[in-house]
Amino acid sequence: MKLPVCWSCRHQFTYREGLRFLFRKNCPACGKKQYVTTKSNLRTGIPAMLVVLVPGILIRVVFEMSFLSYALVMTLLLAAAMMTVPFFVETSEKEEPLV
Ligand SMILES: [Zn+2]
Repeated sequence: MKLPVCWSCRHQFTYREGLRFLFRKNCPACGKKQYVTTKSNLRTGIPAMLVVLVPGILIRVVFEMSFLSYALVMTLLLAAAMMTVPFFVETSEKEEPLV
């Protein structure tokens, strides 16, 4: 697992800076805008979807939850998936297509 590095100044993001990356895509050191590469988008998106969807569906089927507790579990899973994002993000200086 490695944390992202700024494409411009090679600043090594900390885990917390990486998390902030989900909302604000600027380098904390040089302020340059960071874009996420297509490759890392796929790398982040696919495991995140699996983490959320697979147990989500299983839980729903196995435990026959009410929609409310199901939504709560899904929110927790989504949060868990987001926690792993900093390890998969790869920065780029220009915008790449999403897929
Ligand atoms: Zn930078």
